[in-house]
Amino acid sequence: MANTGYNPFENAQTQFDGVAEKIGLDADMREFLRQPMKEFHFTIPVKMDDGTTKTFKGYRIRHNDARGPGKGGIRFHPEETADTVRALSMWMTWKCAVADIPLGGGKGGVVCDPREMSMGEQERLCRGYARALYNNIGPFCDVPAPDVMTTGQHMLWILDEYETLAGARFPGMITGKPVGMGGSMGRTEATGYGVIYTLKELLKCEKIPVCDTSASFQGFGNVAEYAARMYSQLGGKVAAISCWNQKDKTAYTFKKSGGCDVEELAAIKDKFGSIDTDKARSLGYEISDGDNWLKEDVDILVPCALENQITPAVFGKISKKVKVICEGANGPTTPDCDPLIKDAGIIMLPDFLCNAGGVTCSYFEQVQCNMNYFWDRAEVLEKLEYKMTSAFRAVYDLAKAQNVYMRDAAYMIAIRRVAEAVEMRGWV
Ligand code: NAD
Repeated sequence: MANTGYNPFENAQTQFDGVAEKIGLDADMREFLRQPMKEFHFTIPVKMDDGTTKTFKGYRIRHNDARGPGKGGIRFHPEETADTVRALSMWMTWKCAVADIPLGGGKGGVVCDPREMSMGEQERLCRGYARALYNNIGPFCDVPAPDVMTTGQHMLWILDEYETLAGARFPGMITGKPVGMGGSMGRTEATGYGVIYTLKELLKCEKIPVCDTSASFQGFGNVAEYAARMYSQLGGKVAAISCWNQKDKTAYTFKKSGGCDVEELAAIKDKFGSIDTDKARSLGYEISDGDNWLKEDVDILVPCALENQITPAVFGKISKKVKVICEGANGPTTPDCDPLIKDAGIIMLPDFLCNAGGVTCSYFEQVQCNMNYFWDRAEVLEKLEYKMTSAFRAVYDLAKAQNVYMRDAAYMIAIRRVAEAVEMRGWV
């Protein structure tokens, strides 16, 4: 999606191949796991408000469902590609496995720009997406959820179209729904909070008090906002936040002496995670180039926007003070940058471990929908913290015991779990 010259699917395969080699994975299993099992590419004609019909390109890709139904979000983005969706579906397989939830990997996307579309146009697009995939999504085969530029409202339109075609109610066919309409308490904040649950545990293991640390964030959407909120509630200093500005078609970094006030910035952002520059300026924020978040003199970098942001080309700009990279986004670091990060002694909290809070809470949402009994927020967050902390401990302990990079340790656990399920089913 981010046009940086890197192909996310090649990145995902490179990461997989490296670890498959390390753990001596059987060649037939490697061939099977390095590509998606099913792909759906389709067109969605949508009647636009001006009377014209526009044809959008849609995707749903299931990487692997050996451990359970496919699971993964739907992105609406003008730069969406089949390879981005392939990569994200593959990362979902590893994410569900490392979090140890009984789900596989899937992902969807539509090449569109919801920022330029009316609500009516977006609703018709969602309903078209559900109709195109009616036989290939559902509670027992592949369960979508929100992702970049999609929300609970989009999920509800997809659910409504699916249920209309089915003639029955299937609340577990999609997650990330609004609370009261089959959604789970805590889902909105789950990914961002999950990022910080793993970071908090890492800092505890490394004996670094959170309140002695500072962090710089890329993104101020769903993941980044809640990650930054929890991080500052724990006493960390949010030194800078970078986000996209649709009006100027560029990104900006926001800073304030003494640190960013997350509540204050959340109050002046739009629903796409863009902070209003005029209002920020009047609140005393200094606004600079969008890449500056990377150059901050902080302990922790938290990329929570797009893939391919931390590359060898920008690595030299990262402060020597940085001790941890905490990947809230999917695929923010390119594989050719991992060796540089490792050699610099920076601890990597890899994406598919760090941002697994969203899918874990989506799994809780499905469980609650199936029981038709909903837990309160405290219960959801308590279960979420337990799952995230357990997943982190397994990865951290393996990385320490075998002296391997944390991303490799997470892959080792995930690949072994998935390969075991594939083998037990007798597929390979
Ligand atoms: P979002 O659409 O809510 O927010 C995206 C944010 O990124 C916005 O603040 C936007 O302004 C910012 N952004 C876009 N381009 C930028 C640029 N060039 N420079 C700086 N900022 C930029 O999306 P989200 O749901 O927060 O997802 C962010 C990342 O986290 C994605 O990689 C997504 O796949 C991943 N993720 C999301 C979830 C979830 O539950 N939402 C779960 C797991 C992983």
